[in-house]
Amino acid sequence: MANNSCRQCGTCCKEETCQISVDGFGGYISPCPALEYEEGLFYCGLITRPSKYIDLGVPAKWKDRMVSGLFCLTLGIGEGCDSDLDDGVDNKTLNSDSKGDCNEK
Ligand code: SF4
Ligand code: SF4
Repeated sequence: MANNSCRQCGTCCKEETCQISVDGFGGYISPCPALEYEEGLFYCGLITRPSKYIDLGVPAKWKDRMVSGLFCLTLGIGEGCDSDLDDGVDNKTLNSDSKGDCNEK
């Protein structure tokens, strides 16, 4: 059960990657190869631009949006932080819509 808003500190994805990462990248890799950073915040690349990491065939925005939406649901984006690893660093953003609004940075 998530208790706190996600602050996009990236700690979870640096230290204890999700099962999608383990399955998709062939094992536990730390930090996750899909972890992206911009202007002080961390993002899940499978949500911001999944076609960079997954072969979706002929490029099309709707494919990225569809796959991104599926990852959002699967990862529980917007449900807050349920990590024991959260380092408590204040990243300015107290955002319950963790890691952006799924398709947006
Ligand atoms: S879920 Fe928690 S540990 Fe992961 S990025 Fe958000 S605040 Fe940080
Ligand atoms: S949420 Fe995204 S960036 Fe984080 S470990 Fe999973 S696949 Fe990697």
